[in-house]
Amino acid sequence: MRIVVIGAGITGLSIARVLTRYDNLEVVVVDKNPDVGWGVSKANTSIIHPCHEEDPDKHPLRTKLCLEGHDKWYEWTRELDIRVKWPGEIMAATSEEEIRVLEHYYELAIRNRVPGVRLLRGEELFRLEPTLNPEVIAGLYAPSAGTIDPIGACIALAENIVDNGGRLLLGRRVKGIRVGDYRVLGVETTGGFIQADLVVNAAGLYADEISRMAGISDYTIHPRRGQYLIYDRTVQPKPSRIIHSAPTQKTKGVYLVNTVGEVLLVGPTAEDLPSNMRDANYTTREGLEYVLKQAMKLIRKLPPRELVIRTYAGLRPEPSTGSFILRFHEDPWGFIEAAGIRSPGLTAAPGIAGYIEKLIREHVELKPREKWNPYRRDITRPKMLPATERNRLIRENPDYGRIICQCEGVSLGEVMEAVKRMKKIGVPEVTLDGLKFRAHIMVGRCQGTFCRPLTSFILQERLGLEIWSLKFNLEGSFYGVGRVKDLFKKPVEAGEK
Ligand SMILES: Cc1cc2nc3c(=O)[nH]c(=O)nc-3n(C[C@H](O)[C@H](O)[C@H](O)COP(=O)(O)OP(=O)(O)OC[C@H]3O[C@@H](n4cnc5c(N)ncnc54)[C@H](O)[C@@H]3O)c2cc1C
Repeated sequence: MRIVVIGAGITGLSIARVLTRYDNLEVVVVDKNPDVGWGVSKANTSIIHPCHEEDPDKHPLRTKLCLEGHDKWYEWTRELDIRVKWPGEIMAATSEEEIRVLEHYYELAIRNRVPGVRLLRGEELFRLEPTLNPEVIAGLYAPSAGTIDPIGACIALAENIVDNGGRLLLGRRVKGIRVGDYRVLGVETTGGFIQADLVVNAAGLYADEISRMAGISDYTIHPRRGQYLIYDRTVQPKPSRIIHSAPTQKTKGVYLVNTVGEVLLVGPTAEDLPSNMRDANYTTREGLEYVLKQAMKLIRKLPPRELVIRTYAGLRPEPSTGSFILRFHEDPWGFIEAAGIRSPGLTAAPGIAGYIEKLIREHVELKPREKWNPYRRDITRPKMLPATERNRLIRENPDYGRIICQCEGVSLGEVMEAVKRMKKIGVPEVTLDGLKFRAHIMVGRCQGTFCRPLTSFILQERLGLEIWSLKFNLEGSFYGVGRVKDLFKKPVEAGEK
């Protein structure tokens, strides 16, 4: 029996991973992007939420899956060698009114059985996080909060899926769902028809469009934009805990996060946009100003703006229902939705995967595999190794001794391993962003000024590519336009300047 999962984001890949445990399921993941995790999952705050911000009366299923997902990430990050840290978080209050908000979340923490949550004031609070702004009068400390590499998680899941016999078909947009005799028959894609007995819709921002293709139109999705700034890793002070402002109805607040890459992330905004703006993932002056203003209230000293190395925006897929849409349809039979996966979708992803697995088991008999491999190792990072091991690695493969990125100390060996892994999971062509997310080049202070041309020249040499034809990411995002010398060689046509 074949199951096609539409969407190689954190939701679709988590579901696909869980389903590769079954012998009688052939798992195929389809995505319109040429790589994994390039939708909503790429651009978010990266928090594994403790889940005391989920109200079990308003959103019982979301709360349950957030809690389950949070706990499963302990296991999944170890099995899949995903970058994560668990520094805990402080929800900070700067007014008596905000203290009431903190008290509300403290009550939810008790109801949701979130471990170790405490309401702190004064010396104890500042001992825990000395970088807090002295104007902060109270903090709700949740020690189980974590921060993860969200796109690294997608890559790890994809590699594990392929290791367990699953397939990824990337760069194929789903155009239609074929239905016959009240059941799904497969998906029409830009790369042809794919037969399927079961279809999972995990299409993020576009899930409502996919559902409509199957004749289901009882919800819509609109984007809620979040804008961010990233400071260089050397800035001080950097908080050791995750700090954020008190949440509102619309957002979990503005965060300051010392990420797994050790850069300081500040954001996001929460701007509701109309449904036709699902590609508006750009930043605005007002958005970034707002984020900076909010962050200043939380931290003793915000680093100077000159040390911002990057800005970006992500779009939350907000469903009209307000909660996750997780259903197995009887008409058409076999159409399954994992839609409207708004925040805390990253946290909940392993929980959502388990829930979808349960829905499928209620309809189909699944046979567990005798041998299923839960493990995957990340690319070896020479800079993390003790000197003796690093030297041994370089003796075995001198590429690990050739530094490509000075900012982050990334070697050519890591870049070439990234190329190999991209090919293995079915990435149709090597892109610079694909290398960035895997080898961690172009993420440091210079943002690729030095390592991008160097990498591109080496890829030209080793893969036989024309340097200008390399893409950053999507169709049309070429590194160059052609050979400059060829432009001069071209005979000048009459009338051409
Ligand atoms: C600003 C912001 C901050 C957030 N912060 C957090 C946080 O700190 N913690 C947390 O837990 N959650 C957070 N979230 C939520 C979390 O990021 C999302 O819930 C999660 O990433 C959704 O993943 P997904 O796989 O459902 O969607 P996506 O990652 O968008 O995956 C869907 C995939 O479907 C593909 N697709 C769409 N249409 C088609 C088609 N027609 N054919 C083929 N493929 C298609 C897309 O290309 C995409 O790759 C945040 C979100 C945002 C935007």
